[in-house]
Amino acid sequence: MPSPRTTLRRLPTRGSHDRRDLDAILDEGLVCHVGFVDGGLPVVVPTGFARDGDRLLLHGSRASRMMQALAGGADLCVTVTLLDGLVLARSAFHHSMNYRSAVLFGRARAIADSEAKWEALRRYVERLVPGRWDSLRAMNATEMAATAVVEFPIGEFSVKSRSGPPKDDAEDADFPVWAGVVPLRLEAAPPLQDPAQKAMPIPHHVSAWSPART
Ligand SMILES: Cc1cc2nc3c(=O)[nH]c(=O)nc-3n(C[C@H](O)[C@H](O)[C@H](O)COP(=O)(O)OP(=O)(O)OC[C@H]3O[C@@H](n4cnc5c(N)ncnc54)[C@H](O)[C@@H]3O)c2cc1C
Repeated sequence: MPSPRTTLRRLPTRGSHDRRDLDAILDEGLVCHVGFVDGGLPVVVPTGFARDGDRLLLHGSRASRMMQALAGGADLCVTVTLLDGLVLARSAFHHSMNYRSAVLFGRARAIADSEAKWEALRRYVERLVPGRWDSLRAMNATEMAATAVVEFPIGEFSVKSRSGPPKDDAEDADFPVWAGVVPLRLEAAPPLQDPAQKAMPIPHHVSAWSPART
């Protein structure tokens, strides 16, 4: 159900409050933008995230302003954007973009308990690169202490999307300029091994990585 602040006023037909639509965006997205007010002024900070059930997991340096705001319970607006194409119309006015985007409101809370924090970091890594955690050198106490982890419960949200060709004015239908869509997508290029490392086979969880991870 939309709340007053997640009710779409501009082009509401492009909106959704369906949790499945939200999860599809969150599970494909790698980067979110976290908006909060710092010292009376708005700031929007890009960062990585992962959905874990009904929460988003975010982490960062304990010294980071963003992590301190998140852990301190600041009011947040988190957005995730997937860009699907450039929409090239016959007129400048009707140029657009195809996209799927999500806006979430709420407050995060710090995960302080060390076991819960470890598990949250494991889940974070596994959501981003499934199958990787167990092959890593385990995090040590210094790294754990330097890392802040927060969870952002999924509650108040909206989804908006645009797809399909340009929506030109009918009288422009025969205007002689190419119109259509340039599709865009994120995809993995062949992995590049660290040159400082002895050559080794690329593990399946690396070679098979794709943005559609679930
Ligand atoms: C890649 C991309 C390109 C865009 N390009 C433009 C552009 O050039 N010009 C432009 O005006 N708009 C653009 N939009 C749409 C833009 O995100 C807003 O939806 C639009 O500007 C209306 O803003 P508003 O604050 O008036 O919306 P309102 O409808 O008043 O917003 C009310 C509520 O609706 C929800 N909402 C609004 N927009 C979104 C969204 N995108 N995703 C999820 N929930 C949303 C939020 O919960 C918000 O609080 C673009 C969106 C994307 C993702």
